[in-house]
Amino acid sequence: MSGYKHAAEMLARRQKADGARGWRERLRTLFLIDEQSPELVMSQYVALTQQIPTLYLVLGINVVMLSLTHISSTPWWLTSALPAPLLGVGVARCYRWMRWRGVAVELDVAAARLKSVVVLVGVLGAGFTVWALALLPYGDAYAQCHVEFFMAVTVVTTCFSLMQLRAAALLLVVIMFVPFGVVFLTSPHPAMVAIAINMLLVACSMVLALLRFYGDFAALILSEHELIVRQQETQRLSDENFRLANIDVLTSLPNRRRFFTELEATLDRAARGERCFAVALIDLDRFKTVNDMHGHAAGDRLLTQVGLRLKRLSGPELFVARLGGDEFGVILTDCHSPEPLKAFSTKVTQALSGPCVVGDRLASISCSIGVAVFPQAGATSEELFERADYALYHGKQAHKGELVVFSDEHEVRIRRAAQIEQAIRTADFETEMWVAFQPIVDVRHSHVLAFEALARWDSRELGPVGPDVFVPLAERTRMIGQLTEVLLAKALTAARGWPAGVSLCFNLSAQNLGSAETMDAVHRLVRQSGLAASRIEFEVTETALLEEFEVATRAIDDLRALGVRVALDDFGTGFSSLGYVHRLKLDKIKIDKSFVTDVERSAQAGAIIKTIVALCRNLSLDCVVEGVETQMQMQIIAGLGCHHMQGYFVSKPVTGDVVTRLIERINANADAVREGAAQ
Ligand code: C2E
Ligand code: CA
Ligand code: CA
Repeated sequence: MSGYKHAAEMLARRQKADGARGWRERLRTLFLIDEQSPELVMSQYVALTQQIPTLYLVLGINVVMLSLTHISSTPWWLTSALPAPLLGVGVARCYRWMRWRGVAVELDVAAARLKSVVVLVGVLGAGFTVWALALLPYGDAYAQCHVEFFMAVTVVTTCFSLMQLRAAALLLVVIMFVPFGVVFLTSPHPAMVAIAINMLLVACSMVLALLRFYGDFAALILSEHELIVRQQETQRLSDENFRLANIDVLTSLPNRRRFFTELEATLDRAARGERCFAVALIDLDRFKTVNDMHGHAAGDRLLTQVGLRLKRLSGPELFVARLGGDEFGVILTDCHSPEPLKAFSTKVTQALSGPCVVGDRLASISCSIGVAVFPQAGATSEELFERADYALYHGKQAHKGELVVFSDEHEVRIRRAAQIEQAIRTADFETEMWVAFQPIVDVRHSHVLAFEALARWDSRELGPVGPDVFVPLAERTRMIGQLTEVLLAKALTAARGWPAGVSLCFNLSAQNLGSAETMDAVHRLVRQSGLAASRIEFEVTETALLEEFEVATRAIDDLRALGVRVALDDFGTGFSSLGYVHRLKLDKIKIDKSFVTDVERSAQAGAIIKTIVALCRNLSLDCVVEGVETQMQMQIIAGLGCHHMQGYFVSKPVTGDVVTRLIERINANADAVREGAAQ
């Protein structure tokens, strides 16, 4: 339903309610101001400030002209003394209403002024009626006609000028027309009677028009008001929607969307004013552990506390938002030198260092901060954000708990990574990729047990690229399946030429285990290789298993069903290694080289190796220690009960064509082991 129709119905209902109160009451309300509708009173008042001055002007001129046409035939007090005070009141009112034009007033003032109009219309209307009737007996027929005309014109003008104030307009019609009608109708002149009838008809149609106009006017104002109320409600709802869409429910901080809006706006201002600003990303250290150990509710509680503390830091030069998870974004507009950044870092560290409730105890929280400064680190919001993110995650590895600003060195690394990515996408794996082999020996008898195949890439464009760089990259670009197939085929071909007692160890990545297509290819290659399955061993890391445990376990079971062996690589670097050892069907554990590095100095590293060796013995698993670089390390580890070793001390990874000679040398005597290492 349209607003207007609704308002008209409201008005009709109100009138019906009035009707129920009896006609006398209805008649009375016609002459009252409708104070129930403040918006109607205000609109009436505004309309009258425009119309009343003109009304008084026209009325004044008419009065002066009527006086002038009677001046010679009528006593002076009738032409001057009587109208003068009425005119004086008119002039004063005209002046006042002119001054009130455009000036805002309170509702009660407007209502009082409207009432004064009704009262004055009554007083002045009666005054002018008495004056005009008093003039009638004087002058000739023309002068009398002028009086009649004056009355008619005055009523019509006043009525039209006061149409928005129904009470005043109706009152005037009654006050001026009723006495005149009575006088004219009772006149002996038929013309006078005719005029009276004419005037009566005019008065009736005017009253009808007036009532209709007023009804429409009031309905319009009410509908306008209703429209405004609805608009305000719509605006309120839309404001609320906007607020909710831009706020993070958990911490009440601005959310990711709001952060990017603010970032765009800041960038705009900074670009125009050539000012600098910084984007900082804050990431809580070890938040995942809190979630894992104490549950998500505890994690949420911690985030709420952190959010509250960071919120206290925000101000005109520091905008804080929660981007999601345990990551918070900050825009710093004051960063003309490194000092404000340092001060910011200190403030954040201090804010978070106070004890937080974590689960059922208090703990202090630390965080890492990555910063990108405009314009040095980037020109767009995406660039700045990405670089702050880069600084955060690369900083997190080396400088946990510190602020790291994106630097030129980072830029070089990003460029290099982009180059490598480009190169691997266009690489010909068959010709550019090859495998190196590193022996795993039993140091007691100086006997080669196996060779681990290690991927190597000689890029056409970039030269040699290390596996620690291109293997994760191949995983990210989803090319690892293809890479694995090429490398495994090459490794199997090479292994076919080795003595029967020497096995092949091959690394599989997480994605390999998760891809049915790659695992099918692995099975096919193993079957077609002509190599006994028992001579093949696949190495998988804990992180590979962590990603999709069920899928990985199934893939491992399938491999073992084929007759190949499976080893758990980099053991000890993950989180819950022992759990996996129990749940997985494994053949071997490879103790990570990080324990070997420390074994000469740290009794603890030695104790860990000893424990793992004992564990393997209990579970009937083979055990290999990797990364053995010195004779001392070899002796200590052998003393701890582990004799299967891999490392530079025995030999660095070598090319396929050297393998057979290396086996012979190692198997020949212990001294050859050292020779191999020197190669
Ligand atoms: P990994 O599986 O732990 O392989 C052992 C790594 O330790 C090799 O590095 C090897 O060269 C190195 N290493 C061996 N002995 C010593 C030592 O005495 N001291 C030190 N410091 N390092 C030693 P590499 O060849 O650079 O490979 C790095 C990693 O790349 C591998 O670690 C493995 O995770 C991955 N990788 C290599 N080849 C492949 C592959 O064909 N497929 C997959 N998925 N990953 C591979
Ligand atoms: Ca390995
Ligand atoms: Ca390893």
